Amino acid sequence: MIVMKFGGSSLANAERIRRVADIVRDQLARKPALVLSAMGDVTDYLLEAAGGALKNGAVSLAPIEDLHRNALRELGLEGAAGKEGPLKDFYSLLEELKNLLVGISLVRELSDRMKDCLLSFGERLSVRIMAAWLESTGVRAAALDAWDAGIVSDSNFSAAEAAGESRDLIPKALNPLLDAGTVPVITGFIAKDKNGNITTLGRGGSDLSATIIAAACGAEEAQVWKDVDGILTADPRVVVNARPVETVTYDEAAELAYFGAQVLHPRAMLPCMKTGIPVLVKNSFNPLAPGTRIVPSPCVKPGPVRAITSRKNVTLVDLASTRMLGQYGFLEGVFSAFARRRISVDMVATSEVSVSLTLDAAHDLEELRGELEKIASVEIKTGKAIVTIVGDVRRSSEILARSFRTCEILGVPVQMVSQGASKVNISFIVDDTEAADVVNALHGDFFDSLPPPGEGTDGEKA
Ligand code: ASP
Ligand code: MG
Repeated sequence: MIVMKFGGSSLANAERIRRVADIVRDQLARKPALVLSAMGDVTDYLLEAAGGALKNGAVSLAPIEDLHRNALRELGLEGAAGKEGPLKDFYSLLEELKNLLVGISLVRELSDRMKDCLLSFGERLSVRIMAAWLESTGVRAAALDAWDAGIVSDSNFSAAEAAGESRDLIPKALNPLLDAGTVPVITGFIAKDKNGNITTLGRGGSDLSATIIAAACGAEEAQVWKDVDGILTADPRVVVNARPVETVTYDEAAELAYFGAQVLHPRAMLPCMKTGIPVLVKNSFNPLAPGTRIVPSPCVKPGPVRAITSRKNVTLVDLASTRMLGQYGFLEGVFSAFARRRISVDMVATSEVSVSLTLDAAHDLEELRGELEKIASVEIKTGKAIVTIVGDVRRSSEILARSFRTCEILGVPVQMVSQGASKVNISFIVDDTEAADVVNALHGDFFDSLPPPGEGTDGEKA
């Protein structure tokens, strides 16, 4: 079997739903199980609706209801809603959603638990429409809520993790359908805990649902269908001639996800990594493009670098110990101060008496500064950017030499550098305002001289 996951923009309207069904039909022989996001921006609309109900007691479902009803009408499925089949409970779900919003508007309170329940409606509606459309085109399909597909989670609302028993429950739920030639169409993003409460796996979590299901079923492949041609060598908004990467390892893909290439959910790689199942990132708007294959082990590739990303709005904290050289416990003091405030540190570079680290600018650091000043002199610098190069660690000297040469030519001082021992990423800090120029120049140096992708240069194929 294979898992095919489609994100919100791939399901934004009736036309997109038709295209997705075409893509699925082409691969029916591989026994697909589908995992879907909510249609379009429905998850955001749901949050907005909750915001309105909380603030001024307004209950407005219009954009959400219109989007789904229009899709049904354009697909000719209006008559099927409310009748036996995947759309049987379509109206009752809308009703339930409305009641929940009324509840929020009356109590003027939205707990994490209620929020997860509210957000679940996007995915629950989209799978029903897709299953109904597949059925109407002659493909046997069944809409499944995550809990009917065996996905059990912990009770950590808004960031739940799948529980171990899902591994057995998922194939138990899906195999009979797959064996009978029925395509299961499963809600991504959501689950239920052991007490029956609805949970979500965090924004963008449908990718994770897909890889959890793929791992549990021992899938041949997990396909993640997006609205871009795969993982790109750089952000196309920054670098005009960014191009898709043909293959990356799980490690490389995970690094890219953490450092700003918002193609895959960072946690989504884990289930497939553990089981060695390849992940294929494809574009539902351009299904003929080869996409990016994420595989267990590296293969020979033309250049030393896979991709370059940058993340802006980063704060750099520079600490020099006020204690004597060689004293122990300094780093522990520093990191426990961050841990107590639940501030996550991204990059770290240390010397004998000083440490530099980076964090997202969102945190209020004044209190922290007070505490750190007891053990170190503290300098906090805002408006920085992390530039990350993901590439072949065996060629790190070449990558470093070329990168620093590029920065030197641009007249950009590199302010901090970090490279892990066995890691595939090299990161350094520059000013926010310099990041785009640096990424463009690096991209030009590392990629422009390489042959275009798909011309037999990929060692895996050669
Ligand atoms: N619909 C959810 C979101 O927008 C989950 C997902 O799309 O993966 O975050
Ligand atoms: Mg979405």
